Amino acid sequence: MVVHETSREVGYRFQGDLQGLENWTTERDVLDELREMGLTTAFAQHACREGTVFDAWGQAYPVRSRAPLFYMVERGPGRGSLDSVLLEQALALGVEVRFGSRLEQLEGPGILAAGPKAADAIAVGYHFDTDRDDGFWAICDETLAPRGYAYLLIMNGRGTVKSCMYSGFKQESVYVARTVEAFRRFAGLEMRNARPHGGVGNFRIPASVLSGRHPVAGEQAGFQDTLWGFGMRLALRSGVLAARSLVDGGDYEARWRKELGPWLRASVVNRAIYGALGNSGYRWALRQQAERDAREFLRRLYRPSFTKRLLMPWARWHYHSRRRDTSCNHVDCACIWCRCAVPR
Ligand SMILES: Cc1cc2nc3c(=O)[nH]c(=O)nc-3n(C[C@H](O)[C@H](O)[C@H](O)COP(=O)(O)OP(=O)(O)OC[C@H]3O[C@@H](n4cnc5c(N)ncnc54)[C@H](O)[C@@H]3O)c2cc1C
Repeated sequence: MVVHETSREVGYRFQGDLQGLENWTTERDVLDELREMGLTTAFAQHACREGTVFDAWGQAYPVRSRAPLFYMVERGPGRGSLDSVLLEQALALGVEVRFGSRLEQLEGPGILAAGPKAADAIAVGYHFDTDRDDGFWAICDETLAPRGYAYLLIMNGRGTVKSCMYSGFKQESVYVARTVEAFRRFAGLEMRNARPHGGVGNFRIPASVLSGRHPVAGEQAGFQDTLWGFGMRLALRSGVLAARSLVDGGDYEARWRKELGPWLRASVVNRAIYGALGNSGYRWALRQQAERDAREFLRRLYRPSFTKRLLMPWARWHYHSRRRDTSCNHVDCACIWCRCAVPR
């Protein structure tokens, strides 16, 4: 088996980014799920049970859960990162990985998984070094991250601070500066060796996940959490579904619709609601979650339900993927949301 990767290293676009592998959508732990799918879990990880979220007025709300809410992992080519450890597993199984190999056409059986194709959200900020203990913090404030959230993650002496915004992309530098300043005030953020980093997220409910006869997996197909962009688990799950369909000749379309479809639709409804909340609404939601186990709270929030099915037409009317709008009207573009600057 051959994997073509257009970049020169695994996970090139992430470069040591810290991300959360969500553990709230199922009762079963996500690491058990990965192991059941045959994937290694030997990557560096920090089980996150406690953190703090701030509202726009600087009020802190504890986030607590008995079981891990998510596992913080490193992305990119670094040692022990999710990407590197999965690559090692693939190589050990005899997979040939061709770096610097941009696939223009796929002949014969194979899976397409080329990542996001448009920017429905962007997460922009810095990577940095720090002496602080591992932990996570977030801020829900429209003036820092329009319709999204700002976050700070620290693991093993490395940190990521980002504004994850769903609109206002052309003001990204303003939102990033405000985000850094807010974390300085609220959480005592200090960055050493700060390096700018950012990336895009692309969300849409796929009409079909076949390109010709080839199954499409991950964000290229639209498999993403439209609410907040926790796409890793969906990318892994859809990749495994696609691979199984190639191996056993099963119906990939039917399988994703059954196993992932209801969650994708629920996340679109959640996005439409969240996008309408504003700062007062975020404050209300933060108060609600602070009184409960955060994992249980998020499980209910993400769960497909009859009410969410009823709200789907309204949500679709409010939420539109920018998938068709890949253009950019910047002169000498250096922004990341339009993908002009995505490294090849
Ligand atoms: C800044 C940021 C923070 C994030 N934080 C989180 C988080 O906390 N939790 C979470 O769950 N998710 C998070 N996500 C989302 C998550 O990273 C993605 O959903 C996930 O990586 C998608 O995986 P993928 O395999 O579909 O695409 P990718 O990870 O983008 O992989 C696609 C690969 O295909 C390669 N490629 C593209 N075109 C070609 C071609 N023609 N030929 C060969 N190779 C090609 C690319 O170089 C790339 O390496 C974040 C995303 C960003 C940008």
